Amino acid sequence: MTAWTLIYEGFIPEQEGLREALCTLGNGYFATRGAAPEATADGIHYPGTYLAGGYNRLWSEVAGRKIENEDLVNLPNWLSLTFRIQGGAPFHPGKTNLLSYCQTLDMRQGVLHRTLRFEDGEGRRTRLATRSIVHLADPHLAALETSLTPENWSGKIVFRSGLDGRIVNAGVERYGNLAGRHLEPLESASLGESIVFLRVRTRQSRLEVVQAARTEIFQEGEPVQSSPSLIGEAGFIGQDVEVAVTAGRTVTLEKTVALFTSRDPAISECCAEAEKTLRRAGRFDALTASHAVAWKHLWNDFDVAIELRNHEDSIETERILHLHILHLLQTVSPAAMDLDCGVPARGWHGEAYRGHIFWDELFVFPLLNLRVPEITRALLKYRYRRLDEARHAAREAGHRGAMYPWQSGSDGREESQSVHLNPESGRWIPDNTRLQRHVSAAIVYNVWQYAQVTMDLEFMAFCGAEMVLEIARFWASISSYNPGLDRYEILGVMGPDEYHDSYPDSREPGLRNNAYTNLMAVWVLCRALEVLDLLPGNRRIELCETLDLRREELALWDEISRKMRICFHEDGIISQFEGYERLAELDWERYRKRYGKVMRLDRVLEAEGDSPNRYKASKQADVLMLFYLFSAEELGSLFRRLGYPFEYDTIPKNVDYYIKRTSHGSTLSQMVHSWVLARSDRRRSWELFTRALRSDVADIQGGTTPEGIHLGAMAGTVDLMERGYSGVETRGDTLWFNPSLPEELVRLRMRIRYRRHSLGVEISRDSLKVSALICDIEPIRIGHRDRTFLLAGGETVEIRL
Ligand code: BGC
Repeated sequence: MTAWTLIYEGFIPEQEGLREALCTLGNGYFATRGAAPEATADGIHYPGTYLAGGYNRLWSEVAGRKIENEDLVNLPNWLSLTFRIQGGAPFHPGKTNLLSYCQTLDMRQGVLHRTLRFEDGEGRRTRLATRSIVHLADPHLAALETSLTPENWSGKIVFRSGLDGRIVNAGVERYGNLAGRHLEPLESASLGESIVFLRVRTRQSRLEVVQAARTEIFQEGEPVQSSPSLIGEAGFIGQDVEVAVTAGRTVTLEKTVALFTSRDPAISECCAEAEKTLRRAGRFDALTASHAVAWKHLWNDFDVAIELRNHEDSIETERILHLHILHLLQTVSPAAMDLDCGVPARGWHGEAYRGHIFWDELFVFPLLNLRVPEITRALLKYRYRRLDEARHAAREAGHRGAMYPWQSGSDGREESQSVHLNPESGRWIPDNTRLQRHVSAAIVYNVWQYAQVTMDLEFMAFCGAEMVLEIARFWASISSYNPGLDRYEILGVMGPDEYHDSYPDSREPGLRNNAYTNLMAVWVLCRALEVLDLLPGNRRIELCETLDLRREELALWDEISRKMRICFHEDGIISQFEGYERLAELDWERYRKRYGKVMRLDRVLEAEGDSPNRYKASKQADVLMLFYLFSAEELGSLFRRLGYPFEYDTIPKNVDYYIKRTSHGSTLSQMVHSWVLARSDRRRSWELFTRALRSDVADIQGGTTPEGIHLGAMAGTVDLMERGYSGVETRGDTLWFNPSLPEELVRLRMRIRYRRHSLGVEISRDSLKVSALICDIEPIRIGHRDRTFLLAGGETVEIRL
């Protein structure tokens, strides 16, 4: 057992869904779940291949209404491969006598291995080993190698290697009533002896997808001459290849697959491109070697080494951190730089949340910024390209500026559901989550952080600033002036805590003065006032002209940023929203006793005919998000700007108040809580960190991970280990460190990039060491507490803690 392998022993049908999600292979362009190649979707297995940003819309009728949904489409299953021994039934792991079964994900090299032995009804014992990859360096390629060894028999075996497009989206049970037939088969044929292809098209987005597969058989390294027969039906094409096998001798089938779509750059036509790519592609070992090199290079940037007090815990923790980094990079790899994709909340690993883009990139970008910020830049452009749609949404809602959608997909319009199913009660209930306007503030936060780390003023000048200004304009426009209080207010929104979408006695959705939203709006307005000064003079003038931005408007932004209303409870606690104090306390003990886990308290309460809107009970961090995103100094200055008191003990008091009232119904929650406790309660922080770390690997929400990983929590936990405990902050022109290692954590080593410098960072209980690789770019400033140091290429700064 090493920190680089995820091993599953035995074939356990109930665990297949989880393993498939966690053993997904991807390269940022497409991803394929780690399903058994012999399986089809049957309630136990769910093969899935998803293209980054491969969406399609369909209409469905539920609860008496017609609704339109945009889904991430499950594409044809390229893995499809099985075999028959001596004319028997096709091999399937669930329908045979398995003698052993082991699945191993090699995270360092990005290879999924499976080894198994089985005995059929005739007493024939056979050994099978498979390896698969989705190529990291050539994002259009994937490959599967199957080696079969008859142990005690000789005879005939027929492999069926196919491309299966008879696929519907059915990966999430709750969506069962919704339309899921996104693909129409167009064409399939063979291209010579060894290659077949399948062309399908999505019904509404009319995205053409071609998969081509080359199937070759080898025995003792030599190609086996065979005459495959073609199997075809609508949406499926395959080849049957018969081979004579001898006891003790291994026969190997190599299936190499190319995937192209009509949206790809630099191609003439998908099918021709797929064929060309396959004809040029090497054999499995060669592909695996170049794939491993690409992974090695990415790991050079992203690997983290930790030493915990307990050695076994170190390995286990590192293994999960590797898993999280792997899935992050399989979702948004360097290949994503050429695409028009956002950061999907559930990876490209399943159909949960339909592959939509929420605010979760807020938890993902910090990790990318300090390693390969070019990826962040590409992902921020996903937002920039949808700025016009966000302007349109603001106008439609009666506002100005740009209002980004809570859930975004292909063109950036609002993709949130209007109703959703509560599986506890079986009822379809209104979904008001789209009122989470704070998503637009997160975009500004992301643009700003990216610029802080990289000083990429070109991006700021041509994309970033425009988003910052248009979003600031939106916040100014949604704020209303309350003359009685001489304060500005934001009404009719929701904060990150999705348990509260309206007042208990109200029929109108939305809340007044959510503290997180209001403070984020203030922060955005401040950045907007600053951003113009960052731009070269001519660009500043051009942008002001384009946006018709005048001095009076800037003066209004300044005023709002000083007079926004934040509500407080009588004892000084920041009120999650106006009136929160008057809600009832929930009897947590009673609910825990009755239901065990109360993570999804909203569903439990709704099923009881009650509503979380009545209680001081949160799904996830809301007020506390402020302490996650900002340092005490930054918050202090924001509160002072508003003329509100902010003492340092505001933080622990609020953390204590809200943590008691949170069910952690989102996987983001424990991670954020762990972060905000990192300095004041290191033991508790560590406890929450270890729980957050297990969110996906142990599927702590009981069934959600098989539908897709939780990318925000995955990236967020790695970031917590690296940035949280080392106190890294990119503020002003300084890279700040403020380590606070939990008791269990003895040493932490990582590499980061900051303003083009590549830095090795090592933190232990008593020292912080930062070394810059040799280079001849300007030195950077490193800060610790109230001291700063200049660090040039080739130098090391060591600070005693
Ligand atoms: C959380 C949101 C999150 C979404 C997607 C929801 O359960 O409440 O904050 O953006 O999942 O991950």
